[in-house]
Amino acid sequence: MSEEKKPLNFIEQIIEEDLANGTQKENLRFRFPPEPNGYLHIGHTKAIGISFGLGEKYNAPVNLRFDDTNPAKEEQEYVDAIKKDVSWLGYQWANECYSSDYFQQLYDWTIQLIKDGKAYVDSQTSEAMAEQKGTPTQEGTNSPFRDRSVTKNLDLFDKMKKGEFAEGEHILRAKIDMKSTNMLMRDPIMYRVLYKSHHRTGKDWCIYPMYDWTHGESDYIEQISHSLCTLEFNPHRELYNWFRNNVYEYSKNEYPLIPKQREFSRLNLSYTIMSKRKLLKLVEENIVNGWDDPRMPTISGLRRRGYTPQAVRNFIETVGVSKRENIIDVSLLEFKIREDLNKTANRVMGVLDPVKVIIDNYPEGEEEILIAENNPEDENSGTREVPFSREIYIEREDFREEANKKFFRLKLGKEVRLKNAYFITATSCEKNENGEITVIHCTYDPLTKSGSGTEESKRKVKGTLHWVSIPHAVKAEVRAYDRLFLDESPDGHKDKDFMEFVNPDSLKTINAFVEPSLQTAKIGERFQFQRLGYFNVDDDTTSEKLVFNKTVGLRDSWTKKK
Ligand code: ATP
Ligand code: MG
Repeated sequence: MSEEKKPLNFIEQIIEEDLANGTQKENLRFRFPPEPNGYLHIGHTKAIGISFGLGEKYNAPVNLRFDDTNPAKEEQEYVDAIKKDVSWLGYQWANECYSSDYFQQLYDWTIQLIKDGKAYVDSQTSEAMAEQKGTPTQEGTNSPFRDRSVTKNLDLFDKMKKGEFAEGEHILRAKIDMKSTNMLMRDPIMYRVLYKSHHRTGKDWCIYPMYDWTHGESDYIEQISHSLCTLEFNPHRELYNWFRNNVYEYSKNEYPLIPKQREFSRLNLSYTIMSKRKLLKLVEENIVNGWDDPRMPTISGLRRRGYTPQAVRNFIETVGVSKRENIIDVSLLEFKIREDLNKTANRVMGVLDPVKVIIDNYPEGEEEILIAENNPEDENSGTREVPFSREIYIEREDFREEANKKFFRLKLGKEVRLKNAYFITATSCEKNENGEITVIHCTYDPLTKSGSGTEESKRKVKGTLHWVSIPHAVKAEVRAYDRLFLDESPDGHKDKDFMEFVNPDSLKTINAFVEPSLQTAKIGERFQFQRLGYFNVDDDTTSEKLVFNKTVGLRDSWTKKK
């Protein structure tokens, strides 16, 4: 309902105008075009959200197109990961497409362009070409090969295709305008020779088309109505249109619709980087344990960390669509997962830094089963059984021998509530030779049992602690994460490489004890460890070993730390 009232973003406005000016609604078609040279990151979800969101809004097809024109960097592993991630976000593509499926069509159009004097083979060194390119304020100069005859161009291009030249010996360029104020229009490269096996076309081709020559034409072949991309492609739009207008002349009967490119701002997130190439470096240099390391800003990293698709989509929704670049604070993303998990995650108890408590007046050898609410935010979530006994663990930081009035946790002579159980009062403690507390002695009040409704259980106590019964405790490894980078904008320094800002202490491995109900927790399941934060069961979990990731704390403690 509230969605109806939301003002249109600028892309929706463009589409509404086009519809008002005669574009048929059934001709609306969008695409998301990743290059399979790495895993998708949170930035991509903005592009995904925009195109698939429009698909949902206008009931229009959205293609997933792999922009796979650079065999040197592309792999099937990445294709599979991208498909998994888009599906996980909950989007369905109409067609799975590959730019490499259009290599033949692109080649055929190229022959026509050469015949029409709109493309030529250049045989200079790349240095010579770079020199002639000019600068934004200085015109370029024509290549001495620019006026080769059509016959010669067709012959050389044919030999390029047949593998008769070495890499870099010849390239094919569009013949546009070396004096253009737009550098990209100065006879851009269309094809280069590359002796690399392609993940789909194998060794069929040894000439590969460049991005600008491929991208718009792929849009055109798929009859995409609105080709949406990030702002850095804005200067490419002129070239996009040049190629498109030319091929339209050749193929308007077969492909009557003309796509148009429009640009929106990239999503940048604080304390991380958004580039597949740079993320790959983190993987290759073992700074992280793979693309799906829970510290990575990749979709697979967020999934493994315990993020829900809904939280990621809510985040993208809040970020919105704009034409201005900015950096979104990562705490917004964390807010979104907290908000979602607060509604959906069952509460449990786990102790990360245990110290032993003995309840001296609780009968030795006895135990009882207490009933705990799974999630007070969800009345359908039910209850679970939590065993209680004479010896329990609490967090070390929840006890002090002495403390001021603001310390609401356990201290000698004071009473606190044990979550789901009884009130206890600390009476004494034991220490080892280093002065570390090894045991805290307490007494409990049997009349204060949680949920018993007694007058005693309504007594005012300030603190409530989580705990785990020692004989029932289950060992678990907990992985707690800090920011992967120490700088807010690791990518934003001219004189420093982003690698210089890697946080050396971004992973902390903790041996924790958790309540026995977690023994049967399944990989991916998410919980709130009461008072500590949200945790999920990591992929590394086996029947012998339980591993949790800390998804996020209960509060934004990090901003406060700063
Ligand atoms: P990277 O530099 O990470 O490889 P890219 O732009 O080269 O990013 P592509 O696979 O080519 O990655 O991107 C597919 C689509 O996702 C493009 O339309 C691109 O504009 C968009 N995209 C990439 N990064 C972002 C981002 N940070 N915010 C919004 N959209 C993005
Ligand atoms: Mg790219």
